[in-house]
Amino acid sequence: MTQPAGHIPEEQAPTGADGMIVCDRLVRIYSGEGIEVQALQGLDLLIAEGELAALIGAAGSGKSTLINILAGLDTPTAGAAWVAGHNLGTMTAQERLAYRRSVVGFIWQQTSRNLLPYMTARQNVLLPMRLNVVGRRERRRRADFLLNTLGIAHCADRTPDRMSGGEQQRAAIATALANEPKLLLADEPTGELDSSTAQDVFSALQTANTEFGVTMLVVTHDPAVSSQVRRTIAIRDGKTSSETIRHAATDERGNTTLHAREYATLDRAGRVQLPREMTRRLRMRKRVELQEEPDHIGVWPDQAADQDRE
Ligand code: ADP
Ligand code: MG
Repeated sequence: MTQPAGHIPEEQAPTGADGMIVCDRLVRIYSGEGIEVQALQGLDLLIAEGELAALIGAAGSGKSTLINILAGLDTPTAGAAWVAGHNLGTMTAQERLAYRRSVVGFIWQQTSRNLLPYMTARQNVLLPMRLNVVGRRERRRRADFLLNTLGIAHCADRTPDRMSGGEQQRAAIATALANEPKLLLADEPTGELDSSTAQDVFSALQTANTEFGVTMLVVTHDPAVSSQVRRTIAIRDGKTSSETIRHAATDERGNTTLHAREYATLDRAGRVQLPREMTRRLRMRKRVELQEEPDHIGVWPDQAADQDRE
């Protein structure tokens, strides 16, 4: 393969084998009525099997667009996305249906959207399993097991109108888990709930992650939720911009504390987005000075420009 002059070879493109979720320069453009909205602008993301990650970002930053693509409800305009090895850009309609039924589970923010109102919690959980080969007894056993594990066995015979918002969301999680998906996606699942109920729902998501090993990506506005997960990914203007990784450290007295480290996303072309708060405070604009050190790179305000001004 010939390369244009001056082309610097980039790091190799990721493939579907690199993680449970792999997004490579994902683009989604909404067009209509003469206006174009670039909801995703070359988003890169890698989530390993078994991870529980939170996705945060301002309204309109592209969170729901990303989640909908990963859920198989929408397709990318450009770039690539894989979930559990399935290429979301090239699936046929039939493959997409099977994907939605058995690879991925989805929980909406609106509690009323997740469950069928005229069915009990148990019937809701049984519904996605109706096409399965396993027998009725086994399906019912699994439905009750899921309701029990998520702490809502008492709601098995209730319709959603007789359940609290938190109980409905936990029943929605049980329904999403019915066909043993590899990935659970939740778009602000606690957005309509008060904080103690939100905690119950988040605990149910954690249970699904630890007990069933389901990989999980949760969009949340709730700092109480994002502070409890190991990895929080921030999205800004349709791209992943920074991450917070938390790890528990135990001191010599046996006290465990959670430490957080902030990271900026580095893309394959070597681009880093500096957090706006930092660049604003240091009045960094247009260009910054780099100083290479043996173990780090220093980023400085443009002093030449400052001197020119003086
Ligand atoms: P978030 O979930 O982070 O609030 P969204 O993914 O919903 O953000 O939206 C990202 C951008 O795309 C916003 O500017 C939004 O207005 C736009 N958008 C979302 N859905 C559509 C659509 N169906 N048609 C046109 N624009 C859309
Ligand atoms: Mg949204």
